Amino acid sequence: MAKLKTLKPKLKTIKTGQGLSPVVDRIRGTTLQNIRVRILIRDNFTCQVCGKELRSKYLEIDHIIPLAIGGREDDSNRQVLCIECHREKSRIEEEMNYGQR
Ligand SMILES: [Zn+2]
Repeated sequence: MAKLKTLKPKLKTIKTGQGLSPVVDRIRGTTLQNIRVRILIRDNFTCQVCGKELRSKYLEIDHIIPLAIGGREDDSNRQVLCIECHREKSRIEEEMNYGQR
């Protein structure tokens, strides 16, 4: 866990509602922040798609199975993605109409 040395507590910069995953807005405030920190640490601040290790502000928490199609709102359905991979995944999901409700 030597990697954690480089982590600065800049976890305040949570941004939701960037047009990617509006469903995430169901969870707000400190709960969301706690989840975020927990998943970031679990996944070693590493994008689970491309394997890049990044600072927390460049990482986002993704629902592996989108909530819109029945994904669970718990840690087993969460992963760390870099902004790029998250955007790409969201785009694919949109194309597959996962976003429709
Ligand atoms: Zn990535």
